[in-house]
Amino acid sequence: MTRRTILMGSVGALWPRASARWIAADLSGRIRESNWPDSEQPVCFGSLLKPFLALAYLAAHSESPVIDCTGAGCWYRKGHGRQDMIAGLANSCNVYFLRLSETLNRAALDTTCLSYGLAPPSRLWPASRLIGLGPGWPQAPQAVIRAFSLLARNASEPHTRVVLAGMLRCCESGTAKGIGLRCYAKTGTAAPSERRYSGEGYVIAIYPVDTPRTILLFSRHNTTGAEAATHIRPLLAELGS
Ligand SMILES: [Zn+2]
Repeated sequence: MTRRTILMGSVGALWPRASARWIAADLSGRIRESNWPDSEQPVCFGSLLKPFLALAYLAAHSESPVIDCTGAGCWYRKGHGRQDMIAGLANSCNVYFLRLSETLNRAALDTTCLSYGLAPPSRLWPASRLIGLGPGWPQAPQAVIRAFSLLARNASEPHTRVVLAGMLRCCESGTAKGIGLRCYAKTGTAAPSERRYSGEGYVIAIYPVDTPRTILLFSRHNTTGAEAATHIRPLLAELGS
């Protein structure tokens, strides 16, 4: 039995394979495992790309905003309260990232996207699309996993450290806490890719924290990013071992 068969067999038992897609890469960005059909076909990842908005903002500003989320305009109706960049990333606070995106230098965002291999957004798009609302900011899944691999390789850079601190808190107490395994993570929830689904949940994880070896991009139909996160622990543990 090959390692791949073992992996698919053990993890596949947890959910119908048709409902989940995933790609795993190593730190260099090389794809190790994938069952994602058409992974070069761009899809909307919802909030999953907020870490790159944060990086672009930090590249052009010496300070990041601190806001008060009352719930108005956020997916979390009770409000996240005071949010700095790390809390905003952990909670995927829409109010925080809308404020960030409205004042984001689009040239800086283009530069960040190009350096990470992501497709820059149109300058005509409203800030709401950048944070994943509406039609969002489509990217090829292969490009996304390579971008997060590069983020992990850049872990020693000051701006990247801030973003990774937000992704660690996301796993510890934010939208990705359902993973149950200490890693850098971010979730995203997007509109359904096909009419037969109700929505798409996405999660990206960089594991383990001390010496990252595995980057996992996982998606499940008919769910949210936070719910998708609750399914990846066995796969992440297997890949990261
Ligand atoms: Zn919020």
